[in-house]
Amino acid sequence: MPQNVAACPSCGARNRLRGAEETHGSPPRCGRCGAPLPWLVAADDGSFAAESVGPLPVLVDFWASWCGPCRAVAPVLDELSRELAGRLKVVKVDVDASPGLAARFAARSIPTLVLLRGGVEVERWVGALPKEQLRRALAPHL
Ligand SMILES: [Zn+2]
Repeated sequence: MPQNVAACPSCGARNRLRGAEETHGSPPRCGRCGAPLPWLVAADDGSFAAESVGPLPVLVDFWASWCGPCRAVAPVLDELSRELAGRLKVVKVDVDASPGLAARFAARSIPTLVLLRGGVEVERWVGALPKEQLRRALAPHL
Protein backbone atom coordinates (compact mmCIF):
# COMPACT_ATOMS: atom_id res chain seq x y z
CA MET A 1 0.00 0.00 0.00
CA PRO A 2 1.43 3.44 -0.84
CA GLN A 3 2.56 5.39 2.19
CA ASN A 4 -0.09 8.10 1.75
CA VAL A 5 -2.96 5.62 1.86
CA ALA A 6 -4.21 4.18 5.16
CA ALA A 7 -6.67 1.34 5.62
CA CYS A 8 -9.25 2.03 8.33
CA PRO A 9 -8.73 -0.40 11.25
CA SER A 10 -12.51 -0.36 11.90
CA CYS A 11 -14.20 -0.65 8.51
CA GLY A 12 -11.33 -1.39 6.12
CA ALA A 13 -11.99 1.62 3.87
CA ARG A 14 -8.90 3.00 2.13
CA ASN A 15 -8.29 6.63 2.96
CA ARG A 16 -5.87 9.03 1.34
CA LEU A 17 -3.69 10.72 3.96
CA ARG A 18 -3.25 14.40 3.29
CA GLY A 19 -0.15 16.38 4.16
CA ALA A 20 0.20 18.39 7.36
CA GLU A 21 -0.18 21.68 5.46
CA GLU A 22 -3.63 20.58 4.28
CA THR A 23 -4.91 19.27 7.61
CA HIS A 24 -3.20 21.76 9.94
CA GLY A 25 -1.92 18.85 11.98
CA SER A 26 -5.23 17.31 12.95
CA PRO A 27 -5.18 13.52 13.24
CA PRO A 28 -6.71 11.73 10.23
CA ARG A 29 -10.09 10.03 10.51
CA CYS A 30 -11.82 7.56 8.24
CA GLY A 31 -14.00 9.24 5.64
CA ARG A 32 -16.51 6.39 5.86
CA CYS A 33 -16.89 5.60 9.58
CA GLY A 34 -14.99 8.37 11.37
CA ALA A 35 -12.58 6.08 13.25
CA PRO A 36 -9.02 7.35 13.83
CA LEU A 37 -6.66 6.21 11.08
CA PRO A 38 -3.11 4.90 11.47
CA TRP A 39 -0.83 7.92 11.03
CA LEU A 40 2.52 7.05 9.55
CA VAL A 41 4.19 9.49 7.19
CA ALA A 42 7.59 10.12 5.68
CA ALA A 43 9.20 13.50 6.23
CA ASP A 44 12.35 15.22 5.00
CA ASP A 45 14.25 18.38 5.84
CA GLY A 46 11.53 20.43 4.15
CA SER A 47 8.37 18.86 5.59
CA PHE A 48 9.57 17.83 9.06
CA ALA A 49 8.66 21.05 10.87
CA ALA A 50 5.02 20.75 9.78
CA GLU A 51 4.80 17.00 10.33
CA SER A 52 6.39 16.90 13.77
CA VAL A 53 4.03 19.19 15.69
CA GLY A 54 0.40 18.60 16.56
CA PRO A 55 -1.87 17.20 19.22
CA LEU A 56 -0.45 13.65 19.26
CA PRO A 57 2.93 12.43 20.47
CA VAL A 58 5.20 11.93 17.45
CA LEU A 59 7.59 9.00 17.19
CA VAL A 60 10.35 9.82 14.71
CA ASP A 61 12.13 6.87 13.12
CA PHE A 62 15.58 7.68 11.78
CA TRP A 63 16.38 4.94 9.30
CA ALA A 64 18.28 4.11 6.11
CA SER A 65 17.71 1.60 3.34
CA TRP A 66 21.08 -0.12 3.98
CA CYS A 67 20.42 -0.60 7.71
CA GLY A 68 19.38 -4.17 8.59
CA PRO A 69 17.98 -3.43 12.07
CA CYS A 70 15.91 -0.62 10.53
CA ARG A 71 14.16 -3.21 8.38
CA ALA A 72 13.23 -5.08 11.57
CA VAL A 73 11.79 -1.93 13.13
CA ALA A 74 9.70 -0.91 10.08
CA PRO A 75 6.95 -3.57 10.50
CA VAL A 76 6.86 -2.90 14.26
CA LEU A 77 6.14 0.77 13.57
CA ASP A 78 3.52 -0.17 10.95
CA GLU A 79 1.74 -2.34 13.51
CA LEU A 80 1.99 0.19 16.33
CA SER A 81 0.63 2.95 14.08
CA ARG A 82 -2.44 0.77 13.50
CA GLU A 83 -2.84 -0.35 17.11
CA LEU A 84 -2.29 3.17 18.45
CA ALA A 85 -4.35 4.98 15.78
CA GLY A 86 -5.57 8.28 17.18
CA ARG A 87 -2.94 8.19 19.96
CA LEU A 88 0.41 8.22 18.15
CA LYS A 89 1.86 9.63 14.95
CA VAL A 90 4.88 7.98 13.35
CA VAL A 91 7.21 10.06 11.18
CA LYS A 92 9.88 8.26 9.19
CA VAL A 93 13.08 10.12 8.28
CA ASP A 94 15.57 8.63 5.82
CA VAL A 95 18.91 9.87 7.18
CA ASP A 96 20.55 9.70 3.73
CA ALA A 97 17.86 11.91 2.22
CA SER A 98 17.70 14.25 5.23
CA PRO A 99 21.20 14.70 6.65
CA GLY A 100 20.15 17.99 8.23
CA LEU A 101 17.58 16.30 10.44
CA ALA A 102 19.92 13.45 11.31
CA ALA A 103 22.50 16.01 12.46
CA ARG A 104 19.98 18.14 14.34
CA PHE A 105 18.80 15.11 16.33
CA ALA A 106 22.30 13.63 16.55
CA ALA A 107 21.00 10.37 15.10
CA ARG A 108 24.45 8.89 14.56
CA SER A 109 23.45 5.29 15.15
CA ILE A 110 20.36 3.96 13.44
CA PRO A 111 17.68 3.02 13.97
CA THR A 112 17.12 5.85 16.42
CA LEU A 113 13.58 6.46 17.64
CA VAL A 114 12.87 9.91 19.08
CA LEU A 115 9.61 10.69 20.83
CA LEU A 116 8.42 14.30 20.53
CA ARG A 117 5.63 16.14 22.33
CA GLY A 118 4.81 19.53 20.91
CA GLY A 119 7.99 19.27 18.85
CA VAL A 120 10.16 18.74 21.96
CA GLU A 121 12.13 15.55 22.51
CA VAL A 122 10.94 13.65 25.58
CA GLU A 123 12.67 10.31 25.11
CA ARG A 124 14.75 8.33 22.64
CA TRP A 125 15.67 4.73 22.00
CA VAL A 126 18.65 3.61 19.95
CA GLY A 127 18.62 0.21 18.26
CA ALA A 128 15.90 -2.17 17.20
CA LEU A 129 13.45 -2.62 20.05
CA PRO A 130 11.08 -5.56 20.11
CA LYS A 131 7.49 -4.46 19.62
CA GLU A 132 6.23 -5.18 23.14
CA GLN A 133 9.19 -3.41 24.72
CA LEU A 134 8.60 -0.33 22.57
CA ARG A 135 4.88 -0.41 23.30
CA ARG A 136 5.58 -0.49 27.07
CA ALA A 137 8.10 2.33 26.74
CA LEU A 138 5.59 4.45 24.83
CA ALA A 139 2.65 3.76 27.15
CA PRO A 140 3.37 6.51 29.74
CA HIS A 141 3.49 9.12 26.95
CA LEU A 142 0.20 8.26 25.23
ZN1 LIG B 1 -13.61 3.38 8.67
